[in-house]
Amino acid sequence: MSTGTNPNRFWSRLVRELRPYVPGEQPRMSNLVKLNTNENPFGPSPRVSDAIRAEAAETLRLYPDPEAVALRQALAAYHGARPEQVFVGNGSDEVLAHAFVALLKQDAPLLFPDITYGFFPAWCRLFGIEAETVPLDSALRIRIADYARPAGAIIFPNPNAPTGIALGRAEIAALLQTHPGQPVVVDEAYVDFGAETAIPLVASHPNLLVVRTMSKSRALAGLRVGYAIGDAGLIEALVRVKDSFNSYPLGRPAQAGAVAALEDETHFQRSLALVIEERDRLTQALTRLGFEVLPSAANFVFARHPARAGAELAAELRAQAVLVRHFARPRISDYLRITVGTNTQTDVLLAALARCL
Ligand code: PMP
Repeated sequence: MSTGTNPNRFWSRLVRELRPYVPGEQPRMSNLVKLNTNENPFGPSPRVSDAIRAEAAETLRLYPDPEAVALRQALAAYHGARPEQVFVGNGSDEVLAHAFVALLKQDAPLLFPDITYGFFPAWCRLFGIEAETVPLDSALRIRIADYARPAGAIIFPNPNAPTGIALGRAEIAALLQTHPGQPVVVDEAYVDFGAETAIPLVASHPNLLVVRTMSKSRALAGLRVGYAIGDAGLIEALVRVKDSFNSYPLGRPAQAGAVAALEDETHFQRSLALVIEERDRLTQALTRLGFEVLPSAANFVFARHPARAGAELAAELRAQAVLVRHFARPRISDYLRITVGTNTQTDVLLAALARCL
C-alpha cells in the first residue's frame, strides 16, 4: 500500500512495531458458558455493591483521593504491612505496567519464564525493555536454579499463568537470596486459590514487590482494582510513574468497593472454598476423559488431551457455546486453559467435551 492511502500513516514507529497483548474474548452473547478469562463465578461480596451505591452520589463531581489513603490503609491492615508499603492501581495490569517502567527496566535484561503471562513481552516492547526468557522445565515448572544468571530484574507470576503451577515461599526466598541487588516482582494474581504468598518476605527483602488483584479471588474484575506490597522505596518508584501518567487511576466507586470487599472475610473464604472444590471436581472429571491436567493452584486448569489438538478442541467447544482459552504458542498449543466455573458450568463443559472426544 502506498503511504498516501495507508490508513496507518499517522502512527508512530513505536506503535507500528507493537504487538499488543490479546485478552480473552468478551462476547456480547449471554448464553455462553464463559470459561476463558478466569473470572470468579461466585460473585463479589454484597457489601461491595452497597458501598458502590453509596458512592454513586453528588460527590461524583469531585475527583477521588489520588493517594487512595483509606484503601491503602485497609490493604496494609489486611496484609500486616504499613500504608507506605502499599500501592494501588487500575487493575493489576496497570500496577504491573508501572513496575515495568519503575523497576524492571534496568541496564541488564529482565528475566521471565518462556511460558507466562502474555502481557510481559507486550510491556517490554511498549517500554523498550530488553528481556530474556527462561524456559520452564519439561513438566512446565519454573526452576529457580535456572535464574542464576546475569539479570537486571526478574518477574514471574505465582502461581504461573497459564500453567497454574505454584512455587513455594522457600523457593522464592532462595531466588531472592541469589539476587539481592535486582528488583524481583511476583505477580500473585491467583495466589489466593492455593499458593503461598511471598508477602511475609517483603519485610526482609527491599527488592521484592508482590502484585495482587481483586479481579479473581474477590470476583471484582469489573471494578479494576490491583495493588502491590513492597518496601516503601519500591512503592515510591511506582508512585513516581503513576504521577507521571494518571493521578487518579481509581475512581470513588472502585476505592469504596475495594475497601468493602476486604471487610467481608466470610464471603471471601466461602468463595475460595467453592472454587477449590470445583477445581478438584473438574480436574478429576477431565482426567477421567483422558486429559493430562497440570497441578493447579489457581482458579483455572491447564490440560491437554493426547489424542486431540488444542485449537481444534477449543473451536469445537466454541461451536457448542462453551468458551475456553487456547494459546497458539510453542510448547503449549495443545493445552486448553479452562476457568473453574460453577457446578452447572462444569457439567455443561464436560458434556460438550465428551461429545468432542
Ligand atoms: N496477572 C496475571 C497472571 C493475569 O492472568 C491477569 C489477568 N489477565 C492479570 C495479572 C491482570 O489482572 P487485572 O488487571 O484484572 O488485575
